[in-house]
Amino acid sequence: MKNITILGSTGSIGVSTLEIVAAHPDRFRVIAMTAGKNLELFVRQIKQFTPRIAVVASQADVPRLKELCGALDVTILGGVEGLIAAATADETEMVVAAIVGAAGLVPTAAAIRARKDIALANKEILVTAGHLFMDLVTEFGVRLFPVDSEHSAIFQSIEGHRSEDISKIILTASGGPFLNTPAAQLSAVTVRDALNHPNWNMGKKITIDSATMMNKGLEVIEARWLFNTAVEKIQVNIHPQSIIHSMVEYIDGCVIAQLGTPDMKAPIAYALAYPERIETGVKPLDLTALSGLTFFNPDTAKFRCLELAYLAVTSGESMPAVMNAANEIAVSEFLVGHIGFTRIAETIERTMDAHTAHNLRSIDEVLKADLWGREYAREICKEIGL
Ligand code: NAD
Ligand code: MG
Repeated sequence: MKNITILGSTGSIGVSTLEIVAAHPDRFRVIAMTAGKNLELFVRQIKQFTPRIAVVASQADVPRLKELCGALDVTILGGVEGLIAAATADETEMVVAAIVGAAGLVPTAAAIRARKDIALANKEILVTAGHLFMDLVTEFGVRLFPVDSEHSAIFQSIEGHRSEDISKIILTASGGPFLNTPAAQLSAVTVRDALNHPNWNMGKKITIDSATMMNKGLEVIEARWLFNTAVEKIQVNIHPQSIIHSMVEYIDGCVIAQLGTPDMKAPIAYALAYPERIETGVKPLDLTALSGLTFFNPDTAKFRCLELAYLAVTSGESMPAVMNAANEIAVSEFLVGHIGFTRIAETIERTMDAHTAHNLRSIDEVLKADLWGREYAREICKEIGL
């Protein structure tokens, strides 16, 4: 039996994680779970999975959650202190980091310091503070399992191989809903268009990141840290079918890829049960039913965000944290209709241009850079807002 904490249980990854837990009650027990705003779903999850600790992100929501939970035997907490308590609960062995954005930094760092293994979905953590997190992972001797489908694919494709034999990591990208939309039409796309992802059903923020291709940029940075690879060795291929989840090329010319139906339950289960493989309910691939697998280079002039992520990671230090913060603000401003789609990249670029990268020596310093990026981006959004 593995005891787990789920940070962000009401999100897309959180819900898929709980489906795996529900299918394997003999393997996994939920000790603690945390949620943001969706209290109705959270209460249903608490009733079904009976965690010892349930945490809402905002302290102000604690009384309401207590009321909704009635006589249930669960400790209800709120705020960052509550998230940390969930992440470090005594019995927990593995923490599923499935909060979206830089908000996951503090509880996930606390989990590592409490020597919990991490199943990492929350990619913004490695984007903003990759060097600090990888140092923490080493210092506290924990294991970090990727949940992001591309990174799970790479993880599966490097097992049993020597890292010095890798010549290239090829991240595949669906290209999102605007792959075939002419660049000139992008400024007029709506929120609804951007949320209409062809292959994956995900939270809103990552769905918009997929539409701008910032998601792939974040994943390049995530891969750089997870696999300790020079960014020059990480290449992005558009692969609209999302069947090959990523590939690793070796110096002898061999390429190892991982394939499967696009469903996050597969990489989540692999992270939870590693090194075992368990049933997920994911539909097996019927290769004969596929009309073909295609690959091509991304159009980085059209998808400026991907280029910005490469620039940020090349600049290094605080630049990726500032880029990520500006992206989080711009995406949320787009989602509420304050700025147009192409203004997302513009906001990020202007914020990065105004920032002088500096060394980040602690999570506190990362949070300061994050705050600076957010404030600067918010001002730009005010200026260019609709
Ligand atoms: P989501 O928006 O569906 O869920 C996010 C979860 O975090 C929710 O439970 C929400 O309540 C909680 N949350 C949000 N803001 C919070 C805050 N400030 N404090 C505490 N909790 C907060 O997002 P998602 O799609 O599940 O994605 C989660 C993470 O996993 C993201 O970093 C995303 O990039 C990554 N990821 C997601 C997918 C996917 O298929 N959804 C795939 C790969 C990686
Ligand atoms: Mg991914």
